[in-house]
Amino acid sequence: MYLDSAATAQKPQIVLDALTDYYINQNANVHRGLYQLAFQATEDYEKIRQQVGEFVGVNADNIVFTRGTTEALNLVASSFGPLVVHPDSEILVTAAEHHSNFIPWQQLAKRTGAKFVVVPPDDQGIVTTDAIIDHVTAKTAIVAVAQVTNVTGHVVDVARIGQAVHAKGGYLVVDGAQAVAHMPVDMRQLGADFYAFSGHKIYGPTGIGALVGKKQLLQQMPPIAFGGEMIDMVTEAESTWAPSPLKFEAGTPNIAGVFGLSAAITYLTQSDAEAREQHERALLDQLRTGLQAIPGMTVYGDSEGVSVVSFNLAGVHPHDLATYLDEQSIAVRAGHHCAQPLMTQLNIPATVRASVGLYSNEDDVERLLSAVRAAGRYFNESE
Ligand code: PMP
Repeated sequence: MYLDSAATAQKPQIVLDALTDYYINQNANVHRGLYQLAFQATEDYEKIRQQVGEFVGVNADNIVFTRGTTEALNLVASSFGPLVVHPDSEILVTAAEHHSNFIPWQQLAKRTGAKFVVVPPDDQGIVTTDAIIDHVTAKTAIVAVAQVTNVTGHVVDVARIGQAVHAKGGYLVVDGAQAVAHMPVDMRQLGADFYAFSGHKIYGPTGIGALVGKKQLLQQMPPIAFGGEMIDMVTEAESTWAPSPLKFEAGTPNIAGVFGLSAAITYLTQSDAEAREQHERALLDQLRTGLQAIPGMTVYGDSEGVSVVSFNLAGVHPHDLATYLDEQSIAVRAGHHCAQPLMTQLNIPATVRASVGLYSNEDDVERLLSAVRAAGRYFNESE
């Protein structure tokens, strides 16, 4: 039984079919060949860029295909970062960020001499929208924040943070890895300058994702990887670049992944967003309430969180609990969840984290709850 969709979602048949169909019937390199199969692959690849754009409320030329959220965030930090960050700037992140949205900014701060400001969490592991806004100053060049954090599932108000950051002349980068599968994302409402997400967390393949960026910013940014597909002209003396987004997609891209991502978006959007949200909300409520009733239980985050619930059982190491659950064929995640600064702030080594997807159901949650109850008895008796 799989309750680790926040790490990566299981793939529906439509995604598997899209990958197979691409390799059987459409396989050709894109933006290169002068033959029908290659024309078609290129046309479809670019149509999918438009579909991905529509999925998040932007145009095709706002979408850069990347390997996933991590690569997208690193691209912004490496390419855009130096354009706006100076030695007297501040770069603002929260202590609840995934390492993918923490380390690139920490390293950028080190390279530029900027101040790296980390907003601390409350004792539930939450960094609120207000706490983030309170730390924005006239020196803040970039705020990088997850719309939904992967440890507590807390959701921040991106639009409000964006207004505060823009009012002070800074830029907002949003890690959407845990958000896109669970809520409609419309860049026109969020107003973020950049937004990153991964295909594999929205039922698509691994190795594909997107950076969504404002066009005028993408145009100013230098490429950071060089090679085929991203050039305009190359001479011995100089090279010039293709327009954005192609200038950021050096080398043969993950074409099959793009086709799989298209199928994943089709899968996700063919059901009603509100019904999806209600289904997952009911499961997370059941999970949170059930866990809270277990003696010695600490549940992190707040009841409005999405995607995940993190918890710890007194006297039981999270890894032992996860191993016990694995023996009952229940897959949950235990560890620091690539969020070591948050674990340090909470003074814990790790948590157990259960997360739901569209295919999760009440029985899954009930089985987990009864296994956790049994684990509590088992570990306490064996003490
Ligand atoms: N940010 C958050 C909040 C995440 O949950 C994850 C994946 N665990 C990432 C970033 C990184 O995503 P990926 O590994 O797909 O690049």
